[in-house]
Amino acid sequence: MKKVTRKDVIYQMSAENKPVLSVDSGETVVFETYDCYQGQLLPEGTTFQDVNRKFTNPATGPVYVNDAKPGDVLKITIEKMELGPVGILDIGKNPGALKGFFDSVTIKRLSVVGDMLKYNDRLQIKTKPMIGVIGTAPAEGAVSTMTPMDHGGNMDCTRIEEGAILYLPVFVDGGLLALGDFHAIMGEGEVGNCGVEIEGEATLKVEVIRDMKVTFPMIENEDQWMTVAYGETLDEAAKKATAQMFQFLTEYHGLDAVDAGMLIDMVGDLIICQIVNPMKTVRMEIPKWTIEKLK
Ligand code: CA
Ligand code: CA
Repeated sequence: MKKVTRKDVIYQMSAENKPVLSVDSGETVVFETYDCYQGQLLPEGTTFQDVNRKFTNPATGPVYVNDAKPGDVLKITIEKMELGPVGILDIGKNPGALKGFFDSVTIKRLSVVGDMLKYNDRLQIKTKPMIGVIGTAPAEGAVSTMTPMDHGGNMDCTRIEEGAILYLPVFVDGGLLALGDFHAIMGEGEVGNCGVEIEGEATLKVEVIRDMKVTFPMIENEDQWMTVAYGETLDEAAKKATAQMFQFLTEYHGLDAVDAGMLIDMVGDLIICQIVNPMKTVRMEIPKWTIEKLK
């Protein structure tokens, strides 16, 4: 199986990035990733003073998907996720919703054994591994791996997890898929600034599809369809996530506009993904079975 090692990292999603390998549609590829501090905080005793900010939020890749052309969509099935042995959690002077509550920064290194994360002797939590950053190259320019936009990027969506299918629009030849920033677990909203930041490996099946024309990220799991939208504010992201779901229900599933709007009113759940990145992300979730009943 083809593998992208973590020595190949990028800090911007861009058409200018040189692909590190190419795959055919339908191939499975393994991505090895760093944590969002590129391992700099893993040695016991290191602090943010030891962190070179140039090397934050790396994404591994990019991978060129043969025959992927602008207007196509990459269907990415997350077959497997594996986490490293230590996750980093920090709280303090950061841009999160708890800004101002802490005078200093505290860093914890939490061990992951099997599927359990150990906070301390009393609290152990089952991990919920997710991919924070995953995207294609944008149509124009370079977008920092800190930022989520229509190409994906730093969406920090808990639903981008093992078993899920992510759909990303292709804006440039080959798509140029890259990913990183795994979290062992993260509360919805990423309110304090981070999840449990951790390195790992993801095994993805990548396919080029042409029957779904979406220009923004979408997620499918066993039970739901989801849009993930970005905006400068939560208001903007929320409206966009809803409008994109409406567009998806009417154009892709062929639902009548009134049915689609009313379905969103009845069962569309709007959920905050994160409030701490340069653009905020919000998703809308709709149960699949309800869509099928209205077709
Ligand atoms: Ca992130
Ligand atoms: Ca992160």
